Amino acid sequence: MTLINLKDLSFAQIDELTAAMGQPKFRAKQIRDWLYAKNGIDIAAMSNLPKDFREHLAATHTAAGLAATAKRAAQDGTIKYLFALDDGLTVETVYIPEEKRKTVCVSTQVGCKFKCAFCATGTMGFSRNLRPSEILNQVIEARRGAGEVTNVVFMGMGEPLDNFAAVTQALEILHSPEGFNIGARRITVSTVGLPEQIDQLGKTGIKANLAISLHAADDAVRSRLMPVNRKYPVAAVMKACSRYPLQHGRVITMEVILFDGVNDRPEDVQALIKALRAVKAKVNLIRFNMVAGAEFRPSPREKTEQFQKALMAAGIDCTIRISRGGEIEAACGQLKTAFS
Ligand code: SF4
Repeated sequence: MTLINLKDLSFAQIDELTAAMGQPKFRAKQIRDWLYAKNGIDIAAMSNLPKDFREHLAATHTAAGLAATAKRAAQDGTIKYLFALDDGLTVETVYIPEEKRKTVCVSTQVGCKFKCAFCATGTMGFSRNLRPSEILNQVIEARRGAGEVTNVVFMGMGEPLDNFAAVTQALEILHSPEGFNIGARRITVSTVGLPEQIDQLGKTGIKANLAISLHAADDAVRSRLMPVNRKYPVAAVMKACSRYPLQHGRVITMEVILFDGVNDRPEDVQALIKALRAVKAKVNLIRFNMVAGAEFRPSPREKTEQFQKALMAAGIDCTIRISRGGEIEAACGQLKTAFS
């Protein structure tokens, strides 16, 4: 019999399960505390639960974590993990320590359907969605291995909003005081811009930050970089962004990896300024880390700085982000299960 991972259950389902096993309500709270505050991966070790209840629970359920089959650390402290899933597939997770923030970048799918032209994951094809437990366990294993986690970004392998149910369940547990208790401002979901799912995410009431992998605001350029743009052109993505309910003072992050001569030209800046007119947004310019066989080259630093200057002159907040972990292929668009 396949055991059900307790981390695949919503909090309401853990309440129902403990009640069905004849236990008082506070037992559900104790289980959540073991799972999420204490990085629990073994029901037998949940020592404040009665022994017979633990045995009863373990007959049908598990709290298992993920086994790291490889781990690589970069000079800057970034750690890339390769985790094995039950069915033999693998996913990558990246831990990025900075002075004030300790961020985990989680994967949400094995592979990806979207085939962005600059992305290593896109070349893998799509295998399957991750379950909530597989997403949450990436954070738990990073905490067990590297220590504190203050921020979670959904920017690893896969398109988070294409695995909507599992991702929103994981978001709720990450944010909940009885879960990981991570503030919504410290959680970011990055998407290629699926308008219906952006609307749906807005309706869940989860206040996570939204980031759009935009990369270009001209449809022809963006379609070349991201085939999904043929289905959801820039205007449709921007409309969904302008409908997205933002907390006071918050904005949507537009991620733009600049490629030399492709999307870093003066006309690309102008298209971006125009597209962002109706959206509360800031722009993150990201330096491209070359992937083997890539048809694009990074935009030279001077051009990137000119691009930033032009956006700022138009009143758009813009930062240049150094993509961390480049030396171990753990930066944006570089995750695929090819540890070697
Ligand atoms: S950039 Fe994101 S959406 Fe595009 S192929 Fe890579 S993982 Fe998929």
